[in-house]
Amino acid sequence: MSLIELKVPDIGGHENVDIIAVEIKAGDTVAVEDTLITLETDKATMDVPAEAAGVVKEVKVKVGDKISEGGIIAVIEAAADGVKAEEQPAAAPAAEAEAAKAESTPAPQAASFSGSADVEYDVVVLGGGPGGYSAAFAAADEGLKVAIIERYNTLGGVCLNVGCIPSKALLHNAAVIDEVRHLAANGIKYPEPELDIDMLRGYKEKVISKLTGGLAGMAKARKVDVIQGNGLFVGPNHIEVALTDSAQYEQAVETGEKKTVAFKNCIIAAGSRVMNLPFIPEDPRIIDSSGALELKEVPGKMLIIGGGIIGLEMGTVYSTLGTRLDVVEMMDGLMQGADRDLVKVWQKLNEYRFDNIMVNTKTVAVDAKEDGIYVTFEGENAPKEPLRYDAVLVAAGRAPNGKLIDAEKAGVAVTDRGFIEVDKQMRTNVPHIYAIGDIVGQPMLAHKAVHEGHVAAENCAGHKAYFDARVIPGVAYTAPEVAWVGVTETTAKAEGVKITKANFPWAASGRAIANGCDQGFTKLIFDAESGRIIGGGIVGPNGGDMIGEICLAIEMGCDATDIGKTIHPHPTLGETIGLAAEVALGTCTDLPPQRKK
Ligand code: FAD
Repeated sequence: MSLIELKVPDIGGHENVDIIAVEIKAGDTVAVEDTLITLETDKATMDVPAEAAGVVKEVKVKVGDKISEGGIIAVIEAAADGVKAEEQPAAAPAAEAEAAKAESTPAPQAASFSGSADVEYDVVVLGGGPGGYSAAFAAADEGLKVAIIERYNTLGGVCLNVGCIPSKALLHNAAVIDEVRHLAANGIKYPEPELDIDMLRGYKEKVISKLTGGLAGMAKARKVDVIQGNGLFVGPNHIEVALTDSAQYEQAVETGEKKTVAFKNCIIAAGSRVMNLPFIPEDPRIIDSSGALELKEVPGKMLIIGGGIIGLEMGTVYSTLGTRLDVVEMMDGLMQGADRDLVKVWQKLNEYRFDNIMVNTKTVAVDAKEDGIYVTFEGENAPKEPLRYDAVLVAAGRAPNGKLIDAEKAGVAVTDRGFIEVDKQMRTNVPHIYAIGDIVGQPMLAHKAVHEGHVAAENCAGHKAYFDARVIPGVAYTAPEVAWVGVTETTAKAEGVKITKANFPWAASGRAIANGCDQGFTKLIFDAESGRIIGGGIVGPNGGDMIGEICLAIEMGCDATDIGKTIHPHPTLGETIGLAAEVALGTCTDLPPQRKK
């Protein structure tokens, strides 16, 4: 085995360029094209990839150093000829989801129901969330007689009532405040905003009721009956509904009346709930995402337990309103699922919101005292003493509701974790009962639920529909947004998929510079053999709006030429997708010349 010096290649004549990130350490195994360091010029940031594979013996640079073409980055012991260095598979969320689904679940014996039904439908949808109402409306559009059973007083489920929409209503306001603060650097100064928390909460409520009211109207227009109550299976063709009264979402009181509903087909869309941690006491200062969205007050200092999207989105809102944040995450980084290079940009721009970012760390005890909530941590970044907080936001994930609907009485198998397994037609093990949305597995996202709902409805109508989406995008609507889809560098490495990637730094985008958001970047990931796009990521404002183009490109089987030769409007942030494709093609005239391969 020989030692090889990995050097900075031709970087377009730039000299003494800042090193802003070093991705390797001694002992790491690197593969060809793995990023070694990131450089920042006045025009762009660029990753320097490894030109040879091997084990890192010595890293010769550190963050803050300056380097030019030919500068030595590291010395590696080369892997054997033609053999790619060993890559340690990392735990990929997608693989985890599959593992959850693969739990073998014995089918239970269905109960025999001999009672009579009060009403009968072609399709009954259990749960009125985005999956449920979309399935119900699609089935009604097929001419079927449909009912939705929903325990709360509005349709829209978690997404519209206590999830996607209210969080975005608050995030929008936070983003405007942040933007206005940034304007001071351009010579436009506003006084600090005055917060009327009741009005802000009122705005969020108005957004919700506009949408949920719209859904009620659309249900009526389609003649879809909405039965308000708790539905439980009593047999393979019947659900008993304990009717409820509820003043608001997540509050339902049973009236004592019951209704038995018969169905030819059923679509289970009963969603998920916040996962509670057993060692956390009940205290009004300890909240979950629904509690955070209630926006009762702005605490001085808040701990977020769980560094995933939901916690970080809510943290963004509270931080902009004045809360100091800590976050604790068991995994080795925040926003798991997204590639680290995307998250790194977000983290750099958001560090000012946090006093402590504790990754590889667990919360082990929570003690509610009169003067605050005291939290004890264990792990790599755990403080020695418990820390005191004014509030704690528990955002440690969501649990499926599969065990709460007496599915076994219909003969439907439910995994130990509460998921319901389905095939590509969204059928459970009972052929006339389908399941969709959060209850069937990860990713727990509204857009996945909606598409699955459409597939189930079409099958109820006798069509042959399949859920065969190639990709499902994920977005953190933080500031800046982080969006990704398909194969990531992390999953490619874990699964041994050979890829090529192309980054376009927003430091070279006229629009990003004009908008003051030039730290973002757009990344495209291609299959190394076919050249087709298989993934992508964006970090920057509106990344979530733009990722749809990459989704479409993947679904259409596009290659870099298709994307690069598509004329994108100038100057836009969306243009960076076309420009990243130009990078993949080897010539991007908005960047310095690329290293010849
Ligand atoms: P749900 O929305 O959970 O709906 C299920 C419905 O079934 C509920 O209304 C429930 O009351 C009802 N139900 C359950 N059991 C019964 C029963 N026995 N009888 C009667 N009714 C019953 N996703 C995104 O894609 N984008 C986002 O930006 C986003 N932001 C989020 C922010 C937060 C704070 C949270 C908590 C979630 C967010 N999500 C987001 C996730 C998204 O809300 C869910 O993936 C989506 O709501 C799942 O839809 P669903 O139809 O499967 O179930």
